[in-house]
Formats: sequence, structure tokens, C-alpha cells
Amino acid sequence: MPDSTIQLENSETQDSIISEVRESVAKLCGDFQGEYWRKLDREQGYPTEFVKALTDAGFLGALIPEEYGGVGLGMVAASVILEEIHHQGCNAAACHAQMYTMGTVLRHGSDEQKKELLPKIADGTLRLQAFGVTEPTSGTDTTSLRTVAVRDGDDYIINGQKIWTSRAEHSDLMLLLARTTPLNQVNKKTEGLSVFLLDMRKAKGNGLTIRPIRTMMNHSTTEVFFDNLRIPASNLIGEVDKGFRYILSGMNAERILIAAECIGDAKWFTKKSTDYANDRNIFGRAIGKNQGIQFPIAKAYAQMRAAELMVYHAARLYEAGKPIGEEANTAKLLAADASWAAAEACVQTHGGFGFAEEYDVERKFREARLYQVAPISTNLILSYLAEHVLGMPRSY
Ligand SMILES: Cc1cc2nc3c(=O)[nH]c(=O)nc-3n(C[C@H](O)[C@H](O)[C@H](O)COP(=O)(O)OP(=O)(O)OC[C@H]3O[C@@H](n4cnc5c(N)ncnc54)[C@H](O)[C@@H]3O)c2cc1C
Repeated sequence: MPDSTIQLENSETQDSIISEVRESVAKLCGDFQGEYWRKLDREQGYPTEFVKALTDAGFLGALIPEEYGGVGLGMVAASVILEEIHHQGCNAAACHAQMYTMGTVLRHGSDEQKKELLPKIADGTLRLQAFGVTEPTSGTDTTSLRTVAVRDGDDYIINGQKIWTSRAEHSDLMLLLARTTPLNQVNKKTEGLSVFLLDMRKAKGNGLTIRPIRTMMNHSTTEVFFDNLRIPASNLIGEVDKGFRYILSGMNAERILIAAECIGDAKWFTKKSTDYANDRNIFGRAIGKNQGIQFPIAKAYAQMRAAELMVYHAARLYEAGKPIGEEANTAKLLAADASWAAAEACVQTHGGFGFAEEYDVERKFREARLYQVAPISTNLILSYLAEHVLGMPRSY
């Protein structure tokens, strides 16, 4: 496969930083090859050593400014980090949340919160990997969520339930969205929601219960229950009742970063497909000589290249502080479709071996499927584009 590494149209210095980052990530991933992930997949284990290596190398603190102990890189570099992890056949899902949840603290937290938390998140003393938004009854309809936080003196008391709160068992803190003003007392459904930074170390057993959910891929996801959980009011991020806006800006970052992972996955699948197509001889010639094998791989590659442009376009706009709703959503849609097309072509190219654990293809195939649904489903992105970009009526 040609080196499709995108030219980032930045200054030469920035380009060389990006190349160094890509190389260092690739080198680090060399210590975590297929067997490592296969074992974890069988046991539904958490890649503790991999996350520690990324943290120690400073990659998970890439977006944290230097004044708070981070590396102070931008969204382009952060996207390159996650893309490269996936390009190398590893999986960043165990730890990517820190990159976008941290942004909510950075942009909307108080000075004390930033000084207290960000350096510890940067050096790995504190893990901010859990993001509690989705609920079982409201699903995609986030503003209908039912978890409530009621003020009581210097505390808030939290009751409710979240689902798909990934990494909750491997995180110290959770960024939590809860309703602070009842729906019937607000003008718009987006009002009356607040963001809290929950210290799960103190909360577990004192009103917080976490239950793992086994899924088709190894994702350390959970459901969490809040039963009269009392947290200090100082854990509120930003202003009360204004939390939905804070979460939305984090969600756009999340869409770009996960789209970058999909680009990395698409590259991994394509390399795996072309290698196998060139090596496997059937009917006395390489299967890659058949256009029926070549074309789906080439088509997925073209899809990936187009998606890659959109992902890095969105990342640059994000760095420039421009509105990016359209670009972040489009990037996520195109990149998830490209990785899925590449995954499908890869399984087909491998024939029966596409289903054998030791080839890693079936595992990556299961992992890639998620991004049609989470963190936002393809349907909801299309609805967003139809309504907010193309001006058609809201369909729901
Ligand atoms: C492994 C995993 C990890 C996750 N991690 C997290 C996490 O860490 N934190 C978190 O908060 N959430 C997390 N999620 C939740 C994820 O963001 C949601 O699953 C996703 O947004 C879809 O919501 P839902 O599952 O409730 O589906 P629903 O909202 O119930 O929708 C079901 C289907 O109907 C479609 N649909 C719904 N409404 C419409 C409409 N109006 N028009 C067209 N189609 C529609 C959807 O597209 C979807 O395909 C995770 C999910 C998974 C599976």
C-alpha cells in the first residue's frame, strides 16, 4: 500500500512534529502486537500496560496545555496519535475518552479545577476516562435524560442511571451530564442540564454502582446507577443549567478523534488485504490478480482517502476555533463508512481465514462495526446534515 499519510498544509515545523509523533506512536505500538490484543479480547481484559505506555509517553496528555503539565499539541496531532494507534492494529478505545472529556474541564472549568486536575490527568495520577451521557430510556434523545442532580446545601444529590459508560471501572473520574432543572420548568429541552466531574473513587459503594456489560468486542463498557449519591457542589463544571452546550463542544472533538481512529482502522485493513491478496495463490495465481478481489479493496481505499481529507479539515477548523458541527459530523460519517468498507473487503479477501482468530481480521471487524452506532449513529448524522446544513424539516 502506498504511504497515504496526508500532507497537513501546516508550517514545516508543525509537519515535522506531526511526523515525529506518528513515528513515536508506531514504535510504541510495536510492543503491543496481535497476541496482546487477542488475549485481552478472549478475557475481555483492559489493556493496562498499553494505556500506561501511552500515558508515560505523554500521548494521552497531548491536548493538555504545557502550563498544566501536558504536551500542548492541537487537534491535528491528537488525531494523528489515535489514527496511528489504529493503523498499527492496536485499539485506543480503552483510553481515547481522556482526550475529549478533558477539553470540557479545560474550556469550562474554574481556574482551581484546572490547576488541581489537569496536571494529574496529564501525568496519569488521575484517570478521566468515563463519560456518562447515554441513558437506557432516552438513548440518542439526550435532552430527555432522567438522571437528576438536586442541590442540597453545599452538595448535589444524584439519582438515576447511565448506560454504555465505557471504562468506568478503569477511571477515577466521570464527566457526568444530569438534569438540574426539571424539563417542565425550562424554555428549551437543552436548558437545565449541568455537567459534573464525579470522583468515582469516593462514590463507589456510597451511592454509585457500576456493572459491566459484555459486548461483541472488548470495550470495558458498563451501566452505572446513582442512588442518592452525594457530591460536593464544587464538582460542578461551569455554570449550572448550561451543561448541554459544554458537552456538545466535547462531542465534536470526540467525533473528529474517533473518525481519525476509523481512518487508522481502514489503513490497517487495507494493508492486511493487499498483503494477503498478493500472497495467497489459488488456481495457480495470486488471488490479487482477480479484479473481484482488487476492486472492493481499491474502492475502500479511495473512500478512506476522501474521508481522511475531511477528518483533517475538521481537525484544522477545530484548532482555528471555527464552528465545526457540519465537518465533525461529516468526518465521522465518512470515516466510519470507509473503515467498514475496508473491513468488509478484508474479511472477503481472506476467505475462511478472515474468521480465524489468529489473523486479527475478525477481531478488528467486530471493533470497526461499533462506529456505525457510537458515539453517534449514522442515521443521526444524516438527520443533522439534512436539518442543520441543508435546511430541511426536523424529522423527529
Ligand atoms: C460499546 C459502546 C460504547 C459506548 N460508550 C459510551 C460512553 O462512554 N458514554 C456514553 O454516554 N455513551 C456511550 N455509548 C452510547 C452510544 O453513544 C449510543 O449507543 C448511541 O448514541 C446510540 O444510542 P442508543 O444506543 O440509545 O440507540 P437509540 O437512540 O435507541 O437508537 C436505536 C437506533 O435507532 C436509530 N434512531 C433513533 N432515533 C432516530 C431518528 N430520529 N431517525 C433515524 N434513526 C433513529 C438510531 O440511529 C439507532 O440506530 C456507547 C455505546 C456502545 C455500544
